[in-house]
Amino acid sequence: MENCIFCKIASGEIPANKVFEDDKVIAFNDLNPQAPVHILIIPKKHIASLADITEQDTELLGHIQQVASMLAKKMNLVDGYRLVNNCGIDGGQTVLHLHYHLMGGRTFAWPAG
Ligand code: 5GP
Ligand code: ZN
Repeated sequence: MENCIFCKIASGEIPANKVFEDDKVIAFNDLNPQAPVHILIIPKKHIASLADITEQDTELLGHIQQVASMLAKKMNLVDGYRLVNNCGIDGGQTVLHLHYHLMGGRTFAWPAG
């Protein structure tokens, strides 16, 4: 997808601080971290948002959660963490390529305002 910043990170065109990569997903540190650990997990294929998934993405979405759980263990987030997807304008999504925020290392309040 042209002009998509996360597609460019996935292809290596734009550098990112990668923490994990396989054939389906890539995970990298957020540029503007909101917690001591703030990793973005994205599919390599362009999906604009959670509103755009299809039945064919079921395995991919499960895989993203497996990667999140694995990375949380790797980052030693033994007291818990937050896995967040912002969808659309009301959800606060600013980058239109599906991504999940894995955040930890501090205690979060709920609801988040
Ligand atoms: P959203 O608000 O769409 O859920 O989250 C987008 C996230 O992407 C933000 O937390 C923002 O800091 C991060 N971000 C935006 N551009 C870049 C970039 O070029 N590199 C990295 N590593 N993170 C980015
Ligand atoms: Zn994209």
